[in-house]
Parts: sequence; C-alpha cells; structure tokens
Amino acid sequence: MSLEPFVARGDAQLHKRLSNFTRGLEQLQSLLEYQPIYLVMPDIKSEFANLIRNHIHGHAWAKMVEIPLIYPYDDFAILARKLGLKRSEGPIWAVRTEGVLAVDRALTLEKSCLVRIISIGGIGVNSPTHIKVMPGYPIKKIQETYVFEPAARIINGGILTGDLLGTERLGIDTECRGITILPELKDREFLGFIRPGWDRSCYAACYLSSLREKFHERFTTGLRGEGRPCISCNFCEEVCPADITPHLIHKYLYRDLIEEAEQARVDLCVECGLCSFVCPSKIDLRKQLIDAKALIAKEKEEIRQEQERQERLRQEELARKSSEEASE
Ligand code: SF4
Ligand code: SF4
Repeated sequence: MSLEPFVARGDAQLHKRLSNFTRGLEQLQSLLEYQPIYLVMPDIKSEFANLIRNHIHGHAWAKMVEIPLIYPYDDFAILARKLGLKRSEGPIWAVRTEGVLAVDRALTLEKSCLVRIISIGGIGVNSPTHIKVMPGYPIKKIQETYVFEPAARIINGGILTGDLLGTERLGIDTECRGITILPELKDREFLGFIRPGWDRSCYAACYLSSLREKFHERFTTGLRGEGRPCISCNFCEEVCPADITPHLIHKYLYRDLIEEAEQARVDLCVECGLCSFVCPSKIDLRKQLIDAKALIAKEKEEIRQEQERQERLRQEELARKSSEEASE
C-alpha cells in the first residue's frame, strides 16, 4: 500500500498481476526459510480488496494485517512498531508491492525487472494516469505528453516527500513511484500571511475559510507570503507520528546545536513530511531533519573511522615494541 497522494498505489500495480504477486511472496517465503511474512493492506471494503484477501487466505505463512487508510501508516518504521517487531531481535525486511513483483519476475520467470508502474498526477496534469516505464524514461517526454500548465514544477514522488526534479535530471530513477506536477507560482503575495484567507485552508483554522463549508483548494507551489519564523504553535509536534518535537529540533539546528538535536531523537523521524505540511510558517522541517540526520550519521562515521585508525596505530605500535623486545 502507498498512502501518500499522487504515487502509484498497490492496487494499480496488482490489478492484472495478483497471481504474479502471490508467486513472488512464495519465492520470498522460501528465501526467508519460513520466517513470518506480514502482508499489510488498507482496511477498505472493495471488490479488489476482497479478491486479495481471498487470494492470500490459503497461504497460512502470510499473516494479513489491515491498517487504517491514514498517512503515514504505510511507513516501514511505523508498521514495524505496530507489529511489535524490534530491530534488536533480528533484521526486518520491508518490500513494497513492486518489489514482490520484481522478485517473481527475477526468480520465477528469470527475466530482468526493469519495468515499473509509476503514477503521473497532480494539478498540472491533463489527466492523471499510471504508466509502465523503464528507469531512465525521459522526463521531457512526460512533460510533453501530460503537463498542461505552461510553468510547472515536476516532483519525483508525492507532494509530501517528493524531491524537485531539476533540469539536470534527464530520466526517472530506479526508485521512482510517481511524478507529481504542480503549477509553479514563484511570487509571494505581499503580506499574504495576514490576509483573511477566505479562499485558503490551513491546519490552524486561522483563516476566515474556517467559517466556510468544506471546499476544494488547488495545490500550487506558491508561498503566499507565509515564510516566517516559528511561532511555537506546536502543530508539528501534534501531528508527528514519531512523537518527537520538530519545532524544538528546528530551533536547535538554527543555533547549530547538533548534539541537542541528537538528544531530542531526530533519528526517530520517519520523514513523512506532515510537520512541514501543517506548519503555518511554512518552515521546511522535514528537509532540515533529514539533513541533520545525515550530518549526525556522517559525524558518527568519521568518529568511528578515527577510532579505528587510532586502534590500528596502537596495535602497530604494540607490534613494533614487541618485535624490538624480541630482537633485543
Ligand atoms: S518530524 Fe516531521 S517528517 Fe519527521 S516523523 Fe515527525 S512529522 Fe514526520
Ligand atoms: S508548526 Fe511550524 S510554527 Fe508551529 S511550532 Fe512547528 S515549526 Fe513552529
């Protein structure tokens, strides 16, 4: 399953390939030597969901787990926690639908797994669709075929966790699950954040639109003048599925206090992007936390390498001394 908006979902991948999928699961089961396999799917009622349930029913080694259709419950770290699995007790492998299909293709059909199904979605697309492509498929071709907005931002992935595809990238990468295209609005509205906001919604319900009935708002890349400092509203903490405090970590990082950020458990961030989404100040918390995790990992690796180097020198020194003593 995949719960982020605009990426290829499991049912789109499985529609014509359900038996390939179960064959892939069987291959995995024999590779894992009868370790438990959890098959996670949303708890929805649909003809296709029932078909999957019935299909899996006969395989006693696959335990079906149904989870609510709420983002980001499709995150592997959150799923492992929900299933009570601990990394300390052994490795946990998480494979997406397309991975199981690739295992089937490689091990049953003995064919290379080069083709994948990706979604083309977002407000800037003529008609959202799924396409079957090989890695390296030209982004220019996607642009020419599907994009109708004259100026559009092309994102590799969904709107919450996707990365901007710059002009230097010519084709889609091997991990791509979808391309999201949004109208590009570069200008900020002058003093946009203090406007009454009849036509825009916000998690904070701080605009006049909170008095309206539910309405559709178009996603764009526009900031509307909202980029500003943290106002300590706590919304990011409220939505964080990892139970950490993004605003506190953001303040530590702002002051270069990396150790404090580490103590605040930045490592637990599952990179879901919900904090950035709800932040009324439009701070890119997710990116800041990802960068901090990478920096901490790099520093730890450097310390480990330095310790190894020191140990090696110590061992060499000991070996030299003992050979000197032996020759005396
Ligand atoms: S800090 Fe933000 S990106 Fe990380 S898990 Fe919490 S809400 Fe998600
Ligand atoms: S949601 Fe944004 S403004 Fe509110 S506390 Fe978090 S970082 Fe600060």
